[in-house]
Amino acid sequence: MYYDNETLIYFKGNFVKAKDAGMDLYGQSLHYGYSVFEGIKSYNTDSGTRIFKAKEHYERLKRSAELMYIPFDYSVSELTDLTYELLERNGFTDAYIRPLVTCSPNMSLSKGKESYLSLLAWEWSNGYLADKMKIMTSGFQRPNPNAFKVEAKVGGHYVNSILACQDAKDKGYDEALLLDEYGNVAESSGANIFYEKNGTLFTPAKGSILPGITRQTVFEICSELNIPVKETFFKPEEMRGADAAFFCGTAAEIVGLDSLDNVPFTKNWKDTASEKVQQAYLKLVRSSVVVNI
Ligand code: PMP
Repeated sequence: MYYDNETLIYFKGNFVKAKDAGMDLYGQSLHYGYSVFEGIKSYNTDSGTRIFKAKEHYERLKRSAELMYIPFDYSVSELTDLTYELLERNGFTDAYIRPLVTCSPNMSLSKGKESYLSLLAWEWSNGYLADKMKIMTSGFQRPNPNAFKVEAKVGGHYVNSILACQDAKDKGYDEALLLDEYGNVAESSGANIFYEKNGTLFTPAKGSILPGITRQTVFEICSELNIPVKETFFKPEEMRGADAAFFCGTAAEIVGLDSLDNVPFTKNWKDTASEKVQQAYLKLVRSSVVVNI
């Protein structure tokens, strides 16, 4: 599903066939989840294939490595160029790109000694999430910021995401909404959240969330469209039954939510500010002009 016999990846300094790339069983990343990664999308635009917010994603990858004491010295422009080359070699336009930084063999609980960059990509032309998702407040909390560097995108953090997402699915929902240690709304297993009341958007403040690049893009779209938006801490009861709500993330893009804990969001999606943000986002990612927002 992710690759075939011909798919090329960038692996340890070379473009190689995905099927020929081996994984080191003694690597620190495999044993301890001690890796950093990104999720990026490229789109077909009027002026060719464009990687959306490549700079922001690669800056975050470098920052994640730094926060985890993983040595990693590729520059943002090297990473961007390699990614365009990977897309071209595979003939991909609309794709999901997964850069992954793993560490060399080391069974001890010490910082990474040497790191390896892998760049994987697969074709992806429409989002994986259905609109109108039914979500539930999860019993699984987000990782405690005193235990993890939650603003870094680290492999091991996603064990928490898997637990929460699978639990929600087992209970008949589409996704989980995780709270922080104080019971405030944080985010889903792999996306940020906004809700709308009387034309204003609200989203959890930083602290226990991965501050998403799409979340930042939503702020920028709101400022363009004069939609008021507030970053604040709030409990699930404050957003239950609100006018509308959505998840946002690189993979999810902007996905409208149907209900939280079976309490529906009340406004017709088409009449919400959230829908305007969704339309603006869809336009922006396919725009051939590299705009600042
Ligand atoms: N939160 C989590 C836990 C995520 O995995 C993601 C996806 N990277 C996001 C939020 C959204 O981040 P972005 O908009 O940068 O994709």
